[in-house]
Amino acid sequence: MDEPLRTDVAVVGAGAAGLYAALVAADQGASVALVSRSPLAQTASYWAQGGIAAPLAAEDSPAQHAEDTLAAARDAARASAVRVLCEESPERLRDLQTLGVQFDADRGGNLALGLEGGHSERRVVHAGGAATGRRITRALSALAATHERIRVLEPLAATAIASHDGRAAGLTLRPRHGDPLALSARALILATGGTAALWERTTNPRGAVGSGLSLASDAGALLADLEFMQFHPTALRLDGPRDGFLVTEAVRGEGATLLDAHGERFVDELAPRDEVALAIETELRQSGDPAVRLDMRGVDIERFPNIAAALADVGLDPTRDLLPVAPAAHYTMGGIATDLDGRSSLPGLYAIGECACTGLHGANRLASNSLAECLVFGRRAALAATGEPAVTGAALIAEPDTPEAPSEATRGGLWRHAGLRRDAAGLGELLGDPYPLARMIGAACLAREESRGAHQRIDHPNTDRSLDLMHTLVGGDAAPRFQRWQ
Ligand SMILES: Cc1cc2nc3c(=O)[nH]c(=O)nc-3n(C[C@H](O)[C@H](O)[C@H](O)COP(=O)(O)OP(=O)(O)OC[C@H]3O[C@@H](n4cnc5c(N)ncnc54)[C@H](O)[C@@H]3O)c2cc1C
Repeated sequence: MDEPLRTDVAVVGAGAAGLYAALVAADQGASVALVSRSPLAQTASYWAQGGIAAPLAAEDSPAQHAEDTLAAARDAARASAVRVLCEESPERLRDLQTLGVQFDADRGGNLALGLEGGHSERRVVHAGGAATGRRITRALSALAATHERIRVLEPLAATAIASHDGRAAGLTLRPRHGDPLALSARALILATGGTAALWERTTNPRGAVGSGLSLASDAGALLADLEFMQFHPTALRLDGPRDGFLVTEAVRGEGATLLDAHGERFVDELAPRDEVALAIETELRQSGDPAVRLDMRGVDIERFPNIAAALADVGLDPTRDLLPVAPAAHYTMGGIATDLDGRSSLPGLYAIGECACTGLHGANRLASNSLAECLVFGRRAALAATGEPAVTGAALIAEPDTPEAPSEATRGGLWRHAGLRRDAAGLGELLGDPYPLARMIGAACLAREESRGAHQRIDHPNTDRSLDLMHTLVGGDAAPRFQRWQ
């Protein structure tokens, strides 16, 4: 076997979290290998529309942002992670500006601050209207590609984690064609994105199937809160490839309304996402319609050029037409369990961004907190990772014998049985799914015998207060167990 490639820090994933962490680690003097299996435009980060939340307004504060985040999270968030995010996000936003990202300004030249559901203040910063993710990933990837200490390895998929003396010590990387290769590193940072594309109807790119969660779990790291999948309320409901296209919450912040089959409003459009999504699901179940209507005729569409372009593609004119929308799987609140510096339960292995569970989002993520999370925890993990001890080497290890992508049957099963409303009978079906992560999600959903935020059990409709501030841990063959956030 060839000698493994060597680096100080290996980052898997080139979305906002991976790119930013790679830059921070390289600026600390570390050699960094940045591994990505897909082109940039296939990251969730590239697609992000709404923006980045940070308490920047004079009348706002980290404490107020934290209060909104905790309220949205339905008593299931880790207070320390919330505090870290709200205190550090303004500084991370300024870092991005220093790195060349231009955010939208108001007429006075100050950062324009948008309002989104669940936020009590205007605190969401955008770039290019609803092109925030695109602008950030473009700027960061240009910097990563030319950084002297960053080696970009793509298109390569990480397919297994190698351990040495009880620590993560390297990766097996597989090219599209040809033999796999080994990479050894002092620290591994997974930034592989979420799991929403495991569900049949999703706003996410098809690659968002939780491969980092599978890698970490196979290597022995614990996963947390897999039952908390956020369903975005307003994804286009169409036949064809634009089905699931997300219409950002920001349009509701600017006055767009949701209408039922009689043309009546039926929900507070700026309530947190779990409430709005459930109200729409109830409405659809009662009416038998496939979609409710989003009325954005009063919104200045020039502020959202990429939404206007996507709608034009399918023959919809938002200044005239009502838009058919319905919920779709959108954001993974759970993930690889980490501490506040991104450390997983396996020494040497870190997780950041959507693949991590810092406890920040609890049972329901507050809109626009996730890009901020990528930056805040991406930086903390990069700084911690550069301090890890050197390893002696990592062997190429056997790749697990699991399918790399879920089948359509798995995706359909998760949508039917772990959708907006669940029960034990349906969830039990998931325990026999061939895709291991689908089984773990089913087990976590079954273990949480209550309803809270994004996890609604028909057979357990009430919130169990004894589970407040608790998260679910899943690992190996052990049954899920609850633990209090520290
Ligand atoms: C349509 C849409 C709109 C959104 N809008 C907002 C918003 O306005 N504000 C907000 O805060 N959040 C928003 N979100 C959520 C946010 O975009 C994501 O949570 C965030 O971008 C995740 O970033 P990430 O870096 O963790 O992962 P991603 O951006 O998903 O990147 C994952 C990377 O990992 C790579 N990868 C995965 N597995 C492997 C493997 N095995 N080997 C090698 N590479 C691998 C992928 O190729 C990719 O490069 C939105 C999400 C979507 C889908």
